[in-house]
Amino acid sequence: MWHHSFMCKPIFFQSLPSDDLETEEIHLPDESVPPQEERKYLVFHSALLQLFSLCLLCGSGKQKLRLETIGSFLSITQICTLCEHVRTWSSQPFIRNTPAGNLLISAAVLFAGAIPQQALNVFACLRLHCISARTFFRHQRMTLHLAIKNVWSRKQEGMFAALHEGGQALILGGDGRADSPGHSAKYGSYTLMDLRTKKILTLQLVQSNEVGSSNAMEKEGLARAIDFIRRNCTLQIGKIVTDRHLQIAKWIRENLPETCHLYDIWHIAKGLRKKLSALAKQKECEVVGDWTNSIVNHLYWCSTTTREGAGDLVEGKWLSLDNHLHNVHSGHSEAFPQCAHGPLRRQWLKPNTKASVKLSAIITKKSLLKDIRKLSPKYQTAHLEAFHSTINHFAPKWAAFFYMGMLSRLHLAALHHNENCGRGQARNKDGERIYKIRYKKFKKSCTVQAVQGSCTFDYVTELTEEAVRLCEEAIVDDDLMEIPPTLTSTSGADRLNKEAAIQAHRTRFSIDE
Ligand SMILES: [Zn+2]
Ligand SMILES: [Zn+2]
Repeated sequence: MWHHSFMCKPIFFQSLPSDDLETEEIHLPDESVPPQEERKYLVFHSALLQLFSLCLLCGSGKQKLRLETIGSFLSITQICTLCEHVRTWSSQPFIRNTPAGNLLISAAVLFAGAIPQQALNVFACLRLHCISARTFFRHQRMTLHLAIKNVWSRKQEGMFAALHEGGQALILGGDGRADSPGHSAKYGSYTLMDLRTKKILTLQLVQSNEVGSSNAMEKEGLARAIDFIRRNCTLQIGKIVTDRHLQIAKWIRENLPETCHLYDIWHIAKGLRKKLSALAKQKECEVVGDWTNSIVNHLYWCSTTTREGAGDLVEGKWLSLDNHLHNVHSGHSEAFPQCAHGPLRRQWLKPNTKASVKLSAIITKKSLLKDIRKLSPKYQTAHLEAFHSTINHFAPKWAAFFYMGMLSRLHLAALHHNENCGRGQARNKDGERIYKIRYKKFKKSCTVQAVQGSCTFDYVTELTEEAVRLCEEAIVDDDLMEIPPTLTSTSGADRLNKEAAIQAHRTRFSIDE
């Protein structure tokens, strides 16, 4: 029998080829560690019963066992039918009244950013005794949301303390994210990042039914985020870099008059490229397609080679393009009289052709020139875009979440991002930097990319410790039910009655109980 060889020949395992083999010797009594740090093993029913096959007192093999489970917790009562000796054994410790394994499963599912129903299905497929979805949501509501809130608040306090110590005016990047349409509850989140450290300082979650359109949601998110910064930080907001939404620009002009508002290049370049591609598809304008990449590169060059605030120079550089495209390389403007390049051979545009006229119109358009004067030369919001894909891991757009679930997952994404945004390039055993080569389809070319070091998950350890502490001390926070927060302004918004909103919210939560 299998279990026979298991008991007699443990050496058998060492002859099995496996990457996962680890061996260890332990002398009893072993030192005790907190439940979240203890290792857990997957034990099969048949293997477990072997441990209860004999009476510890009289050695008889005639035993009666009573098995009781609470989720992942198992207790076995062993009764000897010969000498009536009773022995009780538990598979895991308790944290106050909760089996530790049950709370830790809920914590692991949420903190890893897994979707509970999927994770619990994995256990069900394995026929592993596990908690129900109801229990998961109870743990989440009673303990885990609060654990995330506490840990995130502590991290924020630490970040603001470090910023105050530095004493420099803040350089912020802001961007909004809307979830996909079609969900019954529609959220928008707004993120403010410290562009020096690339760390998320605050995240605000807005429900569309609070404010209406998604543009209004973004503006409300920004207003709440700035309000939060103001309440927690006395430093001046020196610069803020965003994309070029008109409503956002207006709000910043009116509410942050001391702050320099700059635009992220990538967002402007994206809009420009779209216009150029559309033009290149028109008849007699195919030549524009050959110029698209150069024009977009020129936009980056104009901004990144010009010091911030030199609006005339950056505009002069940009407008020189209109001459350059027609093979004219000097006499551009006072700020930027001539091109900086050497001799070039290209397919120049012919004046007064359709392509020339239409392309000039795009390049010299007033609104574009206004945007170009406000391009941010140094600080961009690319890391915010990257953060949005981290959010997609923790809160995938196909999954629907209640308000607190969504908020907790946003904070998890921020904790993950902040811990890992500063990690450097991966190195091999000899300490050399690791690169990977990416081959581009169709182009027969390749690019070399630095491989990032692996992520760390210290925040998960901290969150789990906090969850265990809250459970141990029976701490709950009723305020977490009093959400979503009230609007920063009530003008023009079809604001819900707060009482009704809370009532509706509680009713929705009770479905999960
Ligand atoms: Zn006995
Ligand atoms: Zn030129």
